[in-house]
Amino acid sequence: MIVGAHESIAGGWFKAVERAQVDGCGALQVFTKNSGMWREPELDDAAVQRFRQAHLAAGHPPVLAHTSYLINLATDAGELMERSITALVAEVQRSSALGIAYCVLHPGAHLGKGEDEALDRVAAALDEVHARTPDATAKILLENTAGQGTCVGHTFGHLGRIFARAQHPERLGVCLDTQHMFAAGYDLVSEEGYARAFLELEAEVGLKNVRAFHLNDSKKPLGSRVDRHEHIGEGLLGLPTFWRLINDLRFADIPGVVETEPREGDAPYRDEVALLNGLRGAPQPKPAPPAFQLELTPATDAKGASSGKTSRKKRSS
Ligand SMILES: [Zn+2]
Ligand SMILES: [Zn+2]
Repeated sequence: MIVGAHESIAGGWFKAVERAQVDGCGALQVFTKNSGMWREPELDDAAVQRFRQAHLAAGHPPVLAHTSYLINLATDAGELMERSITALVAEVQRSSALGIAYCVLHPGAHLGKGEDEALDRVAAALDEVHARTPDATAKILLENTAGQGTCVGHTFGHLGRIFARAQHPERLGVCLDTQHMFAAGYDLVSEEGYARAFLELEAEVGLKNVRAFHLNDSKKPLGSRVDRHEHIGEGLLGLPTFWRLINDLRFADIPGVVETEPREGDAPYRDEVALLNGLRGAPQPKPAPPAFQLELTPATDAKGASSGKTSRKKRSS
């Protein structure tokens, strides 16, 4: 795994590359626009060149562009669908202009209209985006979701069906978010669960289509279907799980970016990037004491809970 982080573009696209270097990243992810707004930024040539130069000077690390959260290719509402397609076309064109290889996309939410039809709509919308961007170099990576609300894409079967129904599956890939996998019910913590998850992925999508990872620990339990990232090693996945992934040679050349809450200071991801890189070739770390029991065990004994001792005891069940 080539470890990196999601970096801010405040001050310009090139700034994200500089921040990634400060954090010790071998890869990075950016938003190429304000991810919560439909408005598209101007593709200013000087700014594009500045990013390309910074990227080259940094040794041309793998870059992912996370697309806008407003895009919903699973919708059955015509106006939102057209807006979403237009926005994704702009994302793909902008990333291509910047020399960014991958655009990460959440497949969308069906809002109660049924999963299977929603997956059809996603595939058809991707066909339309591909038709409108014949010369684009950037590939769209479907990100697996936690399955919150009516979001599709939380099973590998969903992603596989989109691949199977799209006219240009060779222009697609997958970005796997570890927190979303766990929340969606893939037990990455156990060795068997980890093996089973990637067997299912191989069968449904093909491991060759995995182009990137989002490396996030989880605040929420297995199968909770809730998307809440925790700092690496501080959540329910824990360091042993990340050790397994970092040392999984199938993914040795693939970028994996941390998307946790940035820490204070001018190197917000330096510690987490170093922690992950430190797992490479190291003996498997012991599971951390389950601090999460604070959440799982109701703090009926206020004294015990505040001392932090009772709550950290391993549950006997
Ligand atoms: Zn995402
Ligand atoms: Zn997430």
